[in-house]
Amino acid sequence: MENKNIKIVFATGNLHKLHEINEISKSSGIEFILPPDNFDPNENGTTFEQNSYIKAKEAALLSKNIALADDSGLCVEALNGEPGIYSARYDETPEKRIDKLLNNLANCTNRKAKFVCAMTLVDEFGNVLTQEIGECHGKIATKRSGVNGFGYDPVFVVDGYGVTMADMSEELKNSVSHRSIALNKIINYINSYLI
Ligand code: IMP
Repeated sequence: MENKNIKIVFATGNLHKLHEINEISKSSGIEFILPPDNFDPNENGTTFEQNSYIKAKEAALLSKNIALADDSGLCVEALNGEPGIYSARYDETPEKRIDKLLNNLANCTNRKAKFVCAMTLVDEFGNVLTQEIGECHGKIATKRSGVNGFGYDPVFVVDGYGVTMADMSEELKNSVSHRSIALNKIINYINSYLI
């Protein structure tokens, strides 16, 4: 492994996401680290792209470092794209959020959905360097399956695999996920322009 010793602040409080992106990027030599404790962005954008920019800018200004942010969520076709940017706020707990989703889709034959991830990379002053999108397409199962991952993984069946993201090993999820698609584009940008 080439070790370029680059540290980039990853604008999140979600340790699971931080772990995922460090796993996806481990062969790149880039290490993603948490922002300062007072990182508390006001995610009042109306798109994944806007919210990822808000988070990245706040993390960069607080840490005085290059920062990357991800804003992601689940878009369900029969629910007109909901929960979308409100995926983390759809209900009080991850369990309740899945219950609400399954209830809202009860008796619905169109189960098509996609995970979307928007990533924004900014310099230490908060100027946008690049913004990338990743999507992973699938269907919402009628019941939970699997114990891995987080969020809606137990009910998201990935197209072409026939199992939920929570049934997948961490390695397999990281080879197909919306987050890995977006992050690999960001890593290409970093390798091409910043190193
Ligand atoms: P964010 O932290 O504001 O980007 O919220 C993203 C929310 O979307 C998470 O809290 C999850 O509910 C959902 N989500 C995003 N990515 C994934 C994933 O890879 N698996 C399962 N749920 C996800």
